Amino acid sequence: MNTKVSFQKCESYDKQEVANSIKALLEPLGSMSAFVQKNDIVLIKPNMLSCKEPERAATTHPSVIEAVVRECFDAGASEVWVGDSPPAIFGRTEDFWNKTGFAKATETAGGKMLCFEKDEKANVNFKVFGKEVTASVIKKVFDADVVISLSKMKTHNLTRITGAVKNHFGFIPGFAKALWHKKFTKVNEFSAFVTELARSLPVKLHIMDGIEAMDLQGPASGRVKKNNILIASESPVAVDMGFCKIVGLKPESVPIMKYCKSIGWGPASFNDVDFVGTKVEDCIVKGYIVPPAPPVYLIPDFVLELIRKMIWTGPNLKPNKCVKCGRCKNICPAKAIEVGSNGAEFDRTKCISCFCCMEVCPIEAIEMKASPLMAIILKLRNVRNILSRSKKNE
Ligand code: SF4
Ligand code: SF4
Repeated sequence: MNTKVSFQKCESYDKQEVANSIKALLEPLGSMSAFVQKNDIVLIKPNMLSCKEPERAATTHPSVIEAVVRECFDAGASEVWVGDSPPAIFGRTEDFWNKTGFAKATETAGGKMLCFEKDEKANVNFKVFGKEVTASVIKKVFDADVVISLSKMKTHNLTRITGAVKNHFGFIPGFAKALWHKKFTKVNEFSAFVTELARSLPVKLHIMDGIEAMDLQGPASGRVKKNNILIASESPVAVDMGFCKIVGLKPESVPIMKYCKSIGWGPASFNDVDFVGTKVEDCIVKGYIVPPAPPVYLIPDFVLELIRKMIWTGPNLKPNKCVKCGRCKNICPAKAIEVGSNGAEFDRTKCISCFCCMEVCPIEAIEMKASPLMAIILKLRNVRNILSRSKKNE
């Protein structure tokens, strides 16, 4: 049987409109009562990447959190916890909760915020390309009766999109996330790690907030793009498949989706999914720009070693913006950053292109830069894509 992916159009973050839309979104999946039973304790994990206001679209919108917490209580939940762990906390976790609007939304709906950094941890074991891995995650993901993921529809400079599967990365608290980037430096390895982590966690329901999404240089410094969509499924791969479908992206061009297909986890193609709710044709998004697949991802390792110095994408400092706070230096798992009198400086020989620095920079002073050869490859690829699109439209 095909996996169901529910789409629901929603034009704004007006609380009542979002509440109605979440109800309508879940209805084809059996409503919230298909997931949450009387007296259940529910853990909700939104995306709290940055300490930014909801309008920046870097984090799940508080109206969506509030609506889902209320749905859980209406279905009979006795307690609802809400929490996430950003790449690194500078200052107080409460500042993140307040600026993103998470605290107010959760408390208004009767839920309770959790601090993943301070909470008890538990180990999960799995294999990545045959290697045994033990990751430390928050223990409450196993203590809760039901876990719900509330991802944000965004692009990502490394993995192209950051959606429902990647949202599981935040169950690993704090700085350890950057260390996993260092352990799995190649995008295909990192994608496999995130996917295997997701497979080992008991998340029952996946909802994506794409009402105001982010594209271009996501997941922290991109453009706010109004996509007016909510997506839900029991499968995170199916939610990401829905994401690809409406923005016109081939699933196999997304490293995480490619890995999921290779191990047979989740739907392998659009044909394996039943799109329900709002008709697909009414959800199509035009002009959503996703960063290109890193060519390194398509090139065999031995060739890559030979051309690594010529083909790269990495962080670059925008002129006159850096305030020398040192956050990028502290998060960098490869120790590739120094902060001097002119601001942050990046050592390309050490950089592993994880873009954690970009995620934590509070004033978006870092942008993605491509080497000259890479820039030519990307331009050629753009031309090819435009040509193939216009051929399709003929
Ligand atoms: S680049 Fe951003 S994070 Fe790094 S020191 Fe400058 S302002 Fe701080
Ligand atoms: S410089 Fe930035 S992109 Fe490079 S390894 Fe460090 S954090 Fe990652």
